[in-house]
Amino acid sequence: MFETSRIELSRAALRKNLRFLRRQLRPGVRFSSVIKGNAYGHSIELFVPMAEGCGVRHFSVFSADEALAALRARTAGSEIMIMGQLEDDALEWAIERGVAFYIFDERRLKQAQRVARRVGAAARIHLELETGLHRTGLEGAALRGVVKRIVGYPQNLALQGVCTHYAGAESVSNYLRIQQQIAAFARLCAEVTAAGLPVGPAGAPRHTACSAAALIYPETTMEMVRIGIAQYGFWPSRETEIQYFASRGIRRKAKHSHLVRMIKWMSRVMSVKKIRRGDYVGYGAFSLATRDATIAGVPVGYFHGFSRDLSNRGHVLIQGLRAPVIGTVNMNMVMVDVTDIPGVQVGDDVVIIGKQGDNTISVGAFGELSRVLNYELLVSLPSEIPRIIVD
Ligand SMILES: *Cc1c(COP(=O)(O)O)cnc(C)c1O
Repeated sequence: MFETSRIELSRAALRKNLRFLRRQLRPGVRFSSVIKGNAYGHSIELFVPMAEGCGVRHFSVFSADEALAALRARTAGSEIMIMGQLEDDALEWAIERGVAFYIFDERRLKQAQRVARRVGAAARIHLELETGLHRTGLEGAALRGVVKRIVGYPQNLALQGVCTHYAGAESVSNYLRIQQQIAAFARLCAEVTAAGLPVGPAGAPRHTACSAAALIYPETTMEMVRIGIAQYGFWPSRETEIQYFASRGIRRKAKHSHLVRMIKWMSRVMSVKKIRRGDYVGYGAFSLATRDATIAGVPVGYFHGFSRDLSNRGHVLIQGLRAPVIGTVNMNMVMVDVTDIPGVQVGDDVVIIGKQGDNTISVGAFGELSRVLNYELLVSLPSEIPRIIVD
């Protein structure tokens, strides 16, 4: 309504990405859609029903507040799993609502069992195993204690999965570490099975793969995968993209038929004015006009996620042409040089990320210039910018 910019989300792009990702998986492998970070900036509220419309029935979040948003957004009774933080006072809520959660220490398990007994329901739990990421995860005596308790209280503790996370599957330099993690996971799964909790195709499903692992290490897909960045149409890294195509003997030219970005970030020209050669634009003496020029204001600044690193370096699209950023990026606006784009007027569409005419500004290009990862850039788009679904 009154927004200075908006983000369009393409349903067609999502459908295409999910179809591509499913083709990477053996039939029967469960697909969990990772929607932490407000669905990587795409909005949990809009993304969940869209993904359900494409057949997704499992969502992974980081925390209980995100699980609540996903519960409110779901329309098809999808399962929801918390991979990270669950406050003690949210435990009862999660168990009663059937929200699954990770167990990575004995404390959490004991509490879950106590609450489950009190409310008369079974906590749906996933065991996180320590395989080498050294963040959260169970091993050794703690793992044995946890397994013993789960075996002892089947009415309160329902084991729904066994999992781990890799230490950077998107970079070839971590190859050895990933291989060690795959081996460690297999060892621990055997240990859990031997202790009375069957794990694998005939027991609790194993899930270890994020986007990069699923694309580069097919042996990590097991019974379920947790896919984040790729479903939104982004390769986890340039390396993953190159490796994926190289290992299949596909020339990169064909890449456009694989992952397509869902988001397009748009604004409008708020002002147009002429300046003279020798004038400085914006704060300080950062940008000197080297010719008579026409400059346009765009009401998007670092408050909106348009990084200050793009000062004098980034660009936007107007009438399908590139308009370079001139001067520093301000809190709420940026000036762009439109001298070479004839007839620019107040109200013209501005594309900050996405395609217009024959030109595209990819998040990658935007990110490289502003020195942030796709992941960071997407989640730093403020949730106040309205998201709109387009078909
Ligand atoms: C974020 C996350 C994923 C998904 O990672 P992508 O690289 O976005 O596919 C999977 N598992 C865990 C535990 C995560 O935190």
